[in-house]
Amino acid sequence: MIKQIVFTAALLITIIIFFYTISTIIKKIRLTKPYPIKDFGKRFVLLLKVAVAQSTILRRPVVGFMHALVFWGFIIILFGSIEIVFDGISGNERTFAFLGPIYNIVIGLGDLFAYIIFLCIIAFLVRRIFMHISRFQGVEMKAVSHRDANISLLLIMILMVTLMGTNIFYIVLHPEGYSGYFPISAYLAPVFENMSGNTAYFWHEVNWWLHILLIFFFANYLPYSKHFHVFMSLPNVFLSRLESLGKLDTMKNVLREVRYMLNPDETPDISTEVPGLFGVKDVNDATWKNYFDALTCTQCGRCTDVCPANITGKKLSPRKIFIDFRKRMDEIGPKLIKNGAEFTDSKSLVRNYISEEELWACTTCNACAKECPVNINHPTLIVDMRRYLVMEESSAPGLLNNMFAHIENNGAPWQYSAEERMKWAENLK
Ligand code: SF4
Ligand code: SF4
Repeated sequence: MIKQIVFTAALLITIIIFFYTISTIIKKIRLTKPYPIKDFGKRFVLLLKVAVAQSTILRRPVVGFMHALVFWGFIIILFGSIEIVFDGISGNERTFAFLGPIYNIVIGLGDLFAYIIFLCIIAFLVRRIFMHISRFQGVEMKAVSHRDANISLLLIMILMVTLMGTNIFYIVLHPEGYSGYFPISAYLAPVFENMSGNTAYFWHEVNWWLHILLIFFFANYLPYSKHFHVFMSLPNVFLSRLESLGKLDTMKNVLREVRYMLNPDETPDISTEVPGLFGVKDVNDATWKNYFDALTCTQCGRCTDVCPANITGKKLSPRKIFIDFRKRMDEIGPKLIKNGAEFTDSKSLVRNYISEEELWACTTCNACAKECPVNINHPTLIVDMRRYLVMEESSAPGLLNNMFAHIENNGAPWQYSAEERMKWAENLK
């Protein structure tokens, strides 16, 4: 009974802290602009392809497959974790055993994946710490980013070790027969067969408690870490931008003005509201989907690794755009919530975090968005920040300013007026 009380108290504390964190994130989401979601059928197919089948991540076969194994393993092991919660509250052992063969299959896969994930995590740690992979480096990758990644990997490793321990000592405790199937742990359990019942019980409890308390801790650590993608990647992929890569969103109010300019006889459509600000200057000018992307970014660097601007030595790193977005939201979000939407700290995402040089270095090639394993779309946010610079500050590189002047004066990007347009053909037969 004491075990049940302690367990339930730990669970309640975990849930309270978790919901507090999620409520602060929801408050920050409310600061952002709308982003309509439709086509749920297409989204479901995308979820199966990109998130469940891990199609993007498997483009790099070896490390991609290892990451996919960890993901699939987590999904399977989640079943066992839910069972532990039921066991903890009810005081029973192996609550879901009544599922019979299905239970044996899922628990068997969970046991197998515990060892596979353990080996993969060791490989990931060796890669991170000793192999100096270039995509894990960059100005945006501070010491804290590396520490965060290593802590999360270490926590996952301990989670797997304690799961193995729970399984092994559960088998040792039930020599006459047990529920479930343990393809690897059943081979390791005989190593401890001479252990007394009390000692085996002690080690089972140590592993069981460590495992579940670590899950509780992990659930509340993740929202503050880059590993928040453990929660966010599935919803973020489901909510992906569905338009073709490279298609830019039309600014409806600008389109209205252009149409009216080209066809003065047309009655202007006044249904589209004129925004307070064109483009994105700060995080609260962006959509909630941009913020979702920032929360989901795994900092894997696949985007920066394929970015032609970055490869050719420009300042731009697409990964930095979303790391900066999240940092800026963490800085200004609580102040906006407390003081209202009009509050300003005289800083902004553009310039204080992301420079004009970075923004204009983007070729809008979309290689970053294509490569991102969690379907983050960088170019649309970059273009929105450029729109702010151009439309609100008239701040653009010299060559673009020339082109804008030509469009304004001649209705075309060239320096000739419309009357002169056919001059080149005058002496042709
Ligand atoms: S934006 Fe995507 S590809 Fe780039 S670091 Fe984040 S998760 Fe990786
Ligand atoms: S779209 Fe821009 S940020 Fe993305 S890869 Fe191309 S140049 Fe780099």
